[in-house]
Amino acid sequence: MKKIIVQKFGGTSVADTEKIKNVAQTVIREKNNGNDVVVVVSAMGHTTDHLVKLANEINPNPSAREMDMLLSTGECVSIALLSMAIQATGHKAVSFNATQIGILTENVHSKARIVDIKTEKLKKNLEEGNIIVVAGFQGVTEDGEITTLGRGGSDTSAVALAAALNAERCDIYTDVEGVYTTDPRVVPNASRLDSISYEEMLELAHAGANVLHPRSVETAKQYAVPLRVRSSFKLDNMGTLILGVEKMEINRPVAGVAADLTQVRIVVREIPDTPGEAATLFSYLADENISVDMIIQSYARKEANTNDIAFTVSIDDLPKAQEVLEKVKVKLGAESVKFDDDIAKVSIIGAGMIDRPGIASTMFKTLADAGINIKMISTSEIKISCLIQKADAQKAVKALHEVFNLGCDEIAEVKGTLPDV
Ligand code: ADP
Ligand code: ASP
Ligand code: MG
Repeated sequence: MKKIIVQKFGGTSVADTEKIKNVAQTVIREKNNGNDVVVVVSAMGHTTDHLVKLANEINPNPSAREMDMLLSTGECVSIALLSMAIQATGHKAVSFNATQIGILTENVHSKARIVDIKTEKLKKNLEEGNIIVVAGFQGVTEDGEITTLGRGGSDTSAVALAAALNAERCDIYTDVEGVYTTDPRVVPNASRLDSISYEEMLELAHAGANVLHPRSVETAKQYAVPLRVRSSFKLDNMGTLILGVEKMEINRPVAGVAADLTQVRIVVREIPDTPGEAATLFSYLADENISVDMIIQSYARKEANTNDIAFTVSIDDLPKAQEVLEKVKVKLGAESVKFDDDIAKVSIIGAGMIDRPGIASTMFKTLADAGINIKMISTSEIKISCLIQKADAQKAVKALHEVFNLGCDEIAEVKGTLPDV
């Protein structure tokens, strides 16, 4: 039986018809290596952003179901065009959306998780000699409702397909040459990593390095899918391999720095200090499918017998969180709820920081020397995150990248531009 290779091409890689023709050549090259090829594509260029803008012009608070209907169309355009581009070279290709294949997800709009992928149709079409082109980012529920996996979710579609098909490898083709020590658009002399562990990559992705969708890394780790990030434009470069930790020697304390500008800090003030209050607060949020990131419960006020609880959520969940927290405030008898969207989370990540003292203090001192105030801190075994003011994010990333000696002599080539904040 032939080996199956899954290739994924992001928005910049399919931004116009010339680029789509180039992608077709990359796909055919893999097929000519004697492999079966399944290709996952994102929407062309900034299509998804454009669709979001259209929706907001019509309705400032569009329903999640209709948003999924709208956003899923972007990927449908790309699959048909790429399939045509492959066919134009005389090769056999067929495109499928998620419903046609059966990429089944939970019944949740805008950030659904994949629960199962039917492989019969894919296998049959591969046996017939087809290159298969699949729409990333979208799924379907048992009831036939269209869902999406969250922004950047095509990476997860690709890895999940690779796992379901027991593929030899999943290659994520993008506009940079691999995973870097930080976003090369922010620090031009960031270094490309030859390899990184699933664990570090997962933390890096969660911390805001959007080169890979966090759930794609989670899925790759769970099913041991060999994953590679590489450039769509420089095909002779090997990119970055994401591997199991046991295959790697970790000799650097910090592997990377990331910033996340998409969070909001919420403080629920003066909650009565009795058992079960935190459980009530966070179960209300969980019931609305709102994920919480950093959490701090501040020192109890002895006289008033109250606590403050501060936490962060994604800015996309803010309208829902505001609604829920009004109810929670009354239920808990809390004094007030405050929202702060002028924040950024900067993180340093590295498996090598375990048992190496001084990493946290170096981070805090570096931020202090740059005149940056820390609003919240959270840590895991291999990550330290600080919440700071949004305007300080780039300065913080540059300073931390420098202090942990992560730069190199080369300047990374970057096709995309930094989004406005
Ligand atoms: P695609 O459209 O191919 O999915 P994305 O824009 O989602 O591409 O991801 C690639 C971008 O991720 C790069 O252009 C880069 O600026 C950004 N990025 C952020 N952090 C990193 C990092 N640590 N390494 C590489 N790229 C990063
Ligand atoms: N097109 C979607 C987005 O822009 C999915 C993806 O690109 O991975 O978020
Ligand atoms: Mg992406």
